[in-house]
Amino acid sequence: MKENIYENGYMVVRENYCCDHYEPDDDALVPMKECWCCKWSRFNTEIHELDKKSVGTCHYEGNTETGSTEREGA
Ligand code: SF4
Repeated sequence: MKENIYENGYMVVRENYCCDHYEPDDDALVPMKECWCCKWSRFNTEIHELDKKSVGTCHYEGNTETGSTEREGA
């Protein structure tokens, strides 16, 4: 069982992760279906314990720590 990790209430995501709430970022040149190209992701946050190049946070309200209804293994 794997629990989600949160940073300031936002779910930590890898750039190649994806979920059902994916929406393409208008700035993405080649919008692949992954967090890196999703309008809800932020990859410029300071997460010191993890690799900052490939780890960011998801700002979709339903994926926040208080708004999440999807928990792996729940
Ligand atoms: S950034 Fe959030 S909403 Fe977008 S695909 Fe990743 S987990 Fe889903």
